[in-house]
Amino acid sequence: MRIPLSAFLLVMLALPAQAAPRDDRLWAAAQAEAPLAVDTLRSLVNIETPTREVGGMAEMGDILAARLIALGAAVEKIPAAAPAHGSVIIGRFAGTGTAKIVLIAHMDTIYPVGTLAKRPFRIQGDRAYGPGIADDKSGLTVILHSLAALKAVGFRRFGQLTVMFNTDEEQTSVFSAKIVTDLASQADVIMSFEPSTVGVEIIPRAAAGNGETRVIVSGRASHAGGAPERGRNALVEAADIVLKTRDLDDPANGFRFNWTQINGGTIRNQIPDQAVISADTRHLSKSVLDDKLAQLAQRLTTPLVPDTTARMEYRPGRPGYFADAASAALIDKAVSIYKEVGGVLTPVPAMTASTDAGYAQLSGKPVIEGLGLPGYGYHSSQEEYVDLSRIAPRIYLAAKMVIELSGQ
Ligand SMILES: [Zn+2]
Repeated sequence: MRIPLSAFLLVMLALPAQAAPRDDRLWAAAQAEAPLAVDTLRSLVNIETPTREVGGMAEMGDILAARLIALGAAVEKIPAAAPAHGSVIIGRFAGTGTAKIVLIAHMDTIYPVGTLAKRPFRIQGDRAYGPGIADDKSGLTVILHSLAALKAVGFRRFGQLTVMFNTDEEQTSVFSAKIVTDLASQADVIMSFEPSTVGVEIIPRAAAGNGETRVIVSGRASHAGGAPERGRNALVEAADIVLKTRDLDDPANGFRFNWTQINGGTIRNQIPDQAVISADTRHLSKSVLDDKLAQLAQRLTTPLVPDTTARMEYRPGRPGYFADAASAALIDKAVSIYKEVGGVLTPVPAMTASTDAGYAQLSGKPVIEGLGLPGYGYHSSQEEYVDLSRIAPRIYLAAKMVIELSGQ
């Protein structure tokens, strides 16, 4: 009887984490790649790639495709449809084994064109600075150089290694989400290369799902000066809903609910008959989300302004990532491998960012997140940097994960 590979992988992953010896050849290869990886970081940071930047994104895609081809991949470019730009780059490496492993990272950043001129790439001590250098140019770099390290030691016992670089992660992967989920569905395991954190290098056991909650309030229009009492003020009702639902925000239970937009009324001298309010909504548990939305719906049934009605819509964004048993075993494996080169990975219960690990996990396959470089300052107004001293250990980590997941 042929044991399905996924079952085989689960057994492999369930084995207790031994204090395995370092693979010296692989470590030497990872160290040899480290200075080259710094060059890669520099060249990738020097192309500005905010999600909507057509020229930069095309240039970045071409460079990454050429790098993958040079490493021996068959490359497919899938042109992105609006609102995304550039092309999703997929590189496939055929090996001699059976394991199907997918590695993902994203090309786009949150920084508008011109940021690079203000904050050019620079190295100071163990830090390299630049817009998007951690999120997620470090992920692209670790993937490219761990593939190079595997090539240097002649490792080909995977079945198929698939690399996917998308262009719209920072805009919730509206275009590429389906590609991520489809690739994951055809794989045994997915490794995602978002950045980690400097100092204490975290690895998340969960990443938030996000969405938008809207409430549409309907009232009755009337002249604001002549007959206001005949109107039913939708704006006043919406304001009351905002005030009486602020307590739905519940960080202790991994739930964030914050009103961020309100629209209502068309002209000053008319009681408005319509108002729309919208709340940024994030969850770490589907049941908590469902419970909170039910509470909101309940509160809409008792309006402050008589005769107004309110209806609610929840628009899901990116699904959350929650490490199941197989994914947790993958995290244990990463912790153990990193120790081989003196590294410490610290698993944490959750991170509030949402990532493509959520779309990968819709496949039901084991997923691990946070395999880029330790970095600081991403998605903030502070200057973004990565810790260069962790490049060789991170290349070793990714390459050794591929080796062990290939079941040798
Ligand atoms: Zn990212």
